[in-house]
Amino acid sequence: MFDKILIANRGEIALRILRAAKELGIATVAVHSTADADAMHVRLADESVCIGPPPARDSYLNIPSIIAACEITGADAVHPGYGFLSENARFAEVLNHHGIGFIGPKAEHIRVMGDKIEAKRTAKRLGIPCVPGSEGGVTDTDEAKRVAADIGYPVLIKAASGGGGRGMKVARSEADLENALMTARTEAKAAFGDDAVYIEKYLEKPRHIEVQVLGDGRGNAIHLAERDCSLQRRHQKVWEEGPSPALNAEMREQIGGTVARAMQELGYTGAGTIEFLYEDGQFYFIEMNTRIQVEHPVTEMITGIDLVNEQIRVAAGAPLSVRQEDVRVEGHAIECRINAEHPATFRPSPGTITYFHPPGGLGVRVDSAAYQGYRIPPHYDSLMGKLIVHGRTRNECLMRLRRALDEFVVAGIDTTLPLFRTLVRNADIQNGLYDIHWLEEFLKTGGLEVE
Ligand code: ADP
Repeated sequence: MFDKILIANRGEIALRILRAAKELGIATVAVHSTADADAMHVRLADESVCIGPPPARDSYLNIPSIIAACEITGADAVHPGYGFLSENARFAEVLNHHGIGFIGPKAEHIRVMGDKIEAKRTAKRLGIPCVPGSEGGVTDTDEAKRVAADIGYPVLIKAASGGGGRGMKVARSEADLENALMTARTEAKAAFGDDAVYIEKYLEKPRHIEVQVLGDGRGNAIHLAERDCSLQRRHQKVWEEGPSPALNAEMREQIGGTVARAMQELGYTGAGTIEFLYEDGQFYFIEMNTRIQVEHPVTEMITGIDLVNEQIRVAAGAPLSVRQEDVRVEGHAIECRINAEHPATFRPSPGTITYFHPPGGLGVRVDSAAYQGYRIPPHYDSLMGKLIVHGRTRNECLMRLRRALDEFVVAGIDTTLPLFRTLVRNADIQNGLYDIHWLEEFLKTGGLEVE
């Protein structure tokens, strides 16, 4: 097992990793930018190292500084969390080159899944169902027209190096196609420095359903059921729950089994998520994330399995602590991503938290690095904390979420708490009747009234 883990991240996920490491009896090193000197992850870690100025490219993305911090502190492994360097194959290689463990999958798997065209090709080869579309990248308009005519309109043009929902354009007819192709390529080039795009059938009313996997890298891989992340704004997840209100046990076993077999064949190591769009009883692969995800607590609440603990164990060469037949889905869990943003305009609201009272009680978990007096710096994403609630049934979970949201008090900054208080009382949400467009439409039609 590792003796000392350096956590190359900040905020709630840095705390989450720190907790898992402490429970395994492993020493922890926090790294931080000058803007984060007062952060909770720095206070709770055994040691900390300042790795640079506030901009992420000079600190949390600065590979030489992080390697130096490992060498100074004698850390023998790095956990990258999510975002920042978590899906940077070169970072994994550089660490290995320095004899430092990377708590994540093999660099080759990060690389394959980071290129969406390669990822789709790999998924198809492994027997995972995919969205119909181009075989690879598409460059000229005539080829795009042929592919689109073949799969039928509407189609979606997506960036091969895409992420965060950027570089995607819908074309509803052949007349739209040329323009959409050009815009998507320009956006992709600007955002990712790569103008490779591909074409997919555009699904009109899908749900976003993703399967959590764990692999030991030696041919053993299991699935831990699904999360439904259909409630999104600008392709960013807002509310995640598991199990999905749209699946039954048989469908869960079927898609879970397919994915676990695929990961076994790939020899995948650590935690990963296979994301699907789900429409009319069919699953369509969209991408794989080769890291721990923001919404992982949903799975932890319904299975009782500590995903970060498993990540650390397998990275150290230990087998998974659970077998597929030991994984049991119990009850229901919902996560709300509470951002430091205005609940109606979503304008970021950095600043000092003057009062902070998180909810508690049975089945309530708050993953947050916030505290009273903490000043949220303006340099990073606006996630203030995650509220995760578990109940024996979906209904119990919703009632518990409602009371937990009402207990949660954060003053001094704007948060999206009022949005969730409205959502939890909405009939469509209560009935589980929503797809990936539901939230945008709800917000557009003035569903939320906050001053
Ligand atoms: P990113 O890596 O940018 O997040 P994804 O491929 O995961 O891109 O897609 C993000 C979101 O875009 C999905 O959750 C879904 O809302 C929408 N989307 C992606 N592919 C399609 C498609 N073929 N049809 C309809 N919507 C899609």
